[in-house]
Amino acid sequence: MAKLSLSDLNESDLKGKRVFMRVDFNVPLDADRVITSDNRIKAAIPSIKYIIEKGGRLILASHLGRPKGEKKPEFSLDVCAKKLSELIGKDVKFVNDCVGDEVKNAVDAMKDGGILLLENLRFYKQEEKNDADFSKQLAANADIYVNDAFGTAHRAHASTEGMTKFVKKSAAGFLMEKELKFLGEMLENPKKPFIAILGGAKVSDKIMVIENLLSKVDGLIIGGGMAYTFLKAKGREIGDSLCEKDKINTAKEIMKTALDKNVAIYLPIDHIVAKTPKSGEDFMTALKSAEYKEVLRDSIDDGWEGVDIGKNTIDKFRNIISKSKTIFWNGPMGVFEVEQFSKGTLEVGKALAESGAVTVVGGGDSASAIKKLKLSDKMTHVSTGGGASMEFVEGKELPGVAALTNK
Ligand code: AMP
Repeated sequence: MAKLSLSDLNESDLKGKRVFMRVDFNVPLDADRVITSDNRIKAAIPSIKYIIEKGGRLILASHLGRPKGEKKPEFSLDVCAKKLSELIGKDVKFVNDCVGDEVKNAVDAMKDGGILLLENLRFYKQEEKNDADFSKQLAANADIYVNDAFGTAHRAHASTEGMTKFVKKSAAGFLMEKELKFLGEMLENPKKPFIAILGGAKVSDKIMVIENLLSKVDGLIIGGGMAYTFLKAKGREIGDSLCEKDKINTAKEIMKTALDKNVAIYLPIDHIVAKTPKSGEDFMTALKSAEYKEVLRDSIDDGWEGVDIGKNTIDKFRNIISKSKTIFWNGPMGVFEVEQFSKGTLEVGKALAESGAVTVVGGGDSASAIKKLKLSDKMTHVSTGGGASMEFVEGKELPGVAALTNK
């Protein structure tokens, strides 16, 4: 069902109206509360500019961190008001609350084209509980609701779902619209061949994604830690590599379904292996100085653990990628945080960048890997929502999207 978007709203809809926009200003802060990346604020600027240029009275609301329903100054959004003001060269008034008289007074005093940023929504536990009364209080300051926070759209919270019941019109912001367009087109109408590349630590996190993708893709590349459960299911020796024993049968079933559906599953054929860190050691720290080597076969000896795909696997994956027209990628091919084990992820990222295909990268770890590798602008779309993009690809309806007005 197509949803109302900000681009469907023109000056006559917005001028003089109180436009409440849920944004994702959940920015990283250092110990002195300095914003270390303002990407999320920048990402909301197209919607912000559109609304104020059309004379809307813009009320912005977001969460920041996990204050768990308490007013904790270290999670105040005051720093974001300052940063947004700097970025757009306009006054952004910060209000110390997100509901109540102080907000009402500030909203009443607004002029057309003005901007307010409300205090952290999660200072109230009612936000995450999707409390109806709290939703009503938020909606009391809104003529129109816009959601530009894709990253929280998979959660039914007061500011993402509840309050839409008390507002006449609810629209997707530009960022949200872009996410729905690219993820939606990829699932509904992909250029073929369509392949998905899945990696990361666990099979269990990705079972539903795989199940939904199996009826859509022509091929599935599996790398990273999750590949070892599949290799084990195929009877390979995997040494001390990551393996979810209780998911071996699931892996077998997935491979059988893939066969029935004529979907090729591609697994690593060689590996970079490291000497397993002793138990009790911090995995990542130990891995940085661990002895490692390349094994040019798909089996791994005891005492060693697969930490990246090998060079033949890179060639194999590259070849498949180069023949594809649509590619979805979620999850690194190895422990990419450690330089010597980041090659597989880097090479797959490069192959995507050079493929000429429509390339969609799921959020979370894959988005940070792509960013670390400076490949973000080479992709068709890098999702801003980790959990949200995964639930979307699982085929689930996101409550924050379902709640928007149908066109
Ligand atoms: P996920 O959140 O499931 O996408 O997993 C991402 C994490 O998987 C990253 O922190 C990687 O270091 C980790 N990872 C990828 N490959 C492996 C591997 N072969 N062994 C252990 N961890 C891995």
